[in-house]
Amino acid sequence: MERANLTIKEASDQLKERKISAVELTRAYLGRINALNEKINAYVTVDEQSALKAAEAADARIAKGEATPMTGIPIAHKDLFCTEGVQTTCGSRMLKGFKPPYDATVTTRLKESGAVILGKTNMDEFAMGSSTETSYYGVTRNPWDLERIPGGSSGGSAAAVAAGLCVAATGTDTGGSIRQPAAVTGITGLKPTYGRVSRYGMIAFASSLDQGGPMCRTAEDTAIMLQSIAGHDAKDSTSLNIETPDFSALLNKGIKGLKIGVPTECFGEGLEDDVRSAIDEAKKVFADAGAELVTISLPYTGVAIPTYYIIAPAEASSNLARYDGVKFGYRCENPNDLQDLYSRSRAEGFGSEVKRRIMLGTYVLSSGYYDAYYRRAQKARRLIANDFTKAFESVDAVLTPTTPGTAFKLGEKKDDPVQMYLSDIYTINVNLAGLPGMSLPCGFDGNNLPIGMQLIGKPLDEAGILRIAHTYQKETDWHSKAPDLSGIA
Ligand code: GLN
Repeated sequence: MERANLTIKEASDQLKERKISAVELTRAYLGRINALNEKINAYVTVDEQSALKAAEAADARIAKGEATPMTGIPIAHKDLFCTEGVQTTCGSRMLKGFKPPYDATVTTRLKESGAVILGKTNMDEFAMGSSTETSYYGVTRNPWDLERIPGGSSGGSAAAVAAGLCVAATGTDTGGSIRQPAAVTGITGLKPTYGRVSRYGMIAFASSLDQGGPMCRTAEDTAIMLQSIAGHDAKDSTSLNIETPDFSALLNKGIKGLKIGVPTECFGEGLEDDVRSAIDEAKKVFADAGAELVTISLPYTGVAIPTYYIIAPAEASSNLARYDGVKFGYRCENPNDLQDLYSRSRAEGFGSEVKRRIMLGTYVLSSGYYDAYYRRAQKARRLIANDFTKAFESVDAVLTPTTPGTAFKLGEKKDDPVQMYLSDIYTINVNLAGLPGMSLPCGFDGNNLPIGMQLIGKPLDEAGILRIAHTYQKETDWHSKAPDLSGIA
């Protein structure tokens, strides 16, 4: 298969017209994985046999005329979605060899829609990170420049889509982990409204922030994939029991008369010039399509990072208490007693970023510090959410950069957690407010590295931002660019 940038829409049309079979398509992607994964390390696990079996079933379904737009499409799952019988590591030594006895709801729904799951993608350990460098399974490389990070925590999924090692992939986003890797690898990724997509079977990091979503090449594909994973799930009590709109049907409504807010706080110090000018160009495209750009203010943007780094570690410290070396996961050798079993299993099973978060989390929740940190952070979270509520009284969507800069070099920020945390400065407040947000490509910097912009929608208005993104992608072709990997195959 020659093309790295095949979309779900194109592949699905070709399958329906019987120009290619799902088995042929799957074999082509497995071939690319064989040729390229060693260098890129996007996948932790490739499940060739199940993929080919699913592809055969997809071909039978297509022949019967019962295909969905996802039927026969080769995809990958972030290694945080439980997949029955298939190793699910969450990027951690703690879960090496763990084969869940059940599927996550997202996994189930994609299987039911007939998608072909090629394997599981690399990620920062327990989704903590912005570069995929905290994975126990080695770093993933950015297909645009192998010496650079693919973003994180869903860096494996982003690299896999960008390099054409799958047509689309799932990711999860607690503070930016779908949007930031999408931005730095030149793909389109969407974090849905909190509660739009079931978290059942998604290994928990920070439960009030975590949300799974699609990582694709285009807004059109994102709409298709979101359709198959969204919707109420009785197994997740925070899943919203509301109707799922027809995302694809709303894509072509145009953006005439829409108001897009541009927050001054997101275009100040720290933003690289190339990113700023790419977004300035994008604003012109929106204006030409009939949208009105309005300057707005999100005054609490500056407290998003400290607020997040209290709330997320607090929740993580509680969620990660289950890894005790007893029930499942890593267990140390020859423990002296129960205490030793707990402490050594955790000391040996978790990496240093995860330990940092657990310590931070238990600290901010401990008596005496709870009011000073955790309770204050919850109040700040409300103020951040109120910023958006107020903004959405006068605009339909908000436009910001996704990241302050393009992909940085591997190792550059690894030993400087605060610098790493700042990668998510524009994405984190969206999770704190529970809103839908997406990143889409809008240009390249001087080093030929992709630049992403972020669209933030009103609660449950994924359709609104997808429509803005689709309108932009009809006018531009950044989303169809693919890295040249001929030299490494
Ligand atoms: N980079 C952020 C963190 O390290 C966000 C991660 C995420 O969204 N999972 O926590």
